[in-house]
Amino acid sequence: MNDPTLSSPARRRALSAMCACSGAAASAPLLGGGVLRALLAGAAASSVALPAIAAAVKTTVTPDQALNRLMEGNRLFLQGRLPPVVNNAARRLQIAKSQAPFAILVSCSDSRVPPEALFGVGLGELFIIRVAGNSVSQEGLGSIEYAVAELGVPLVLVMGHERCGAVSAALSVVKDHTIFPGAIGDMVQPILPAAITTRDDPGDWLDNAVRRNVVNVVEKLRISGKLIEAPIAEGKLKIVGARYDLDDGNVDFFHQ
Ligand SMILES: [Zn+2]
Repeated sequence: MNDPTLSSPARRRALSAMCACSGAAASAPLLGGGVLRALLAGAAASSVALPAIAAAVKTTVTPDQALNRLMEGNRLFLQGRLPPVVNNAARRLQIAKSQAPFAILVSCSDSRVPPEALFGVGLGELFIIRVAGNSVSQEGLGSIEYAVAELGVPLVLVMGHERCGAVSAALSVVKDHTIFPGAIGDMVQPILPAAITTRDDPGDWLDNAVRRNVVNVVEKLRISGKLIEAPIAEGKLKIVGARYDLDDGNVDFFHQ
């Protein structure tokens, strides 16, 4: 992951010429509620406590500190100056008993957008939900709620990317009424609102839809229930939207 030959600008340019967004994980529209919330029914909004799964040492990183760390990591990545990430046995043992990731990533399954590589971080630092089209299913929402409530993660970054095949598939459904086999249609379904609402906008439809889809996911998460809304109101959690450029490696944190 940290081999400079594998993350160089030339490597990104070569890969960005290929357009394929693989990984057809089934995805349902983002909904409120969830198993964890059911477990927590009646818990005070500002003092939720989850059933202990593992000893948790919550991070002390603030939302802005977490965001700045991702921004700085990506700045070094696109300059090809990322320092080596320590993923050795000592680090593995250091976090073997508990985790304290500083950010939650909601990103696409696309092989060209691995979050740790784009931000120069390693074991135990990011809590990641990856589905083609960076949608958030009910299970994905539960994962985010767990990371926020139990691990105290202060930042959610929803990251779309240039030439996303899943978003392109949504455009195909809107424009040509394409019917995809298997569960691919279910994967595409949550992206359709972004494809529909940007169809007549000026500029590039696909890129407009990528950005709109990110905004839609961010805005739905922000009102997805008290496990998310309470820490936002207390200044303990931020949800930010971004777009990754396959060509130059830049992450544009455009929706804050
Ligand atoms: Zn994609």
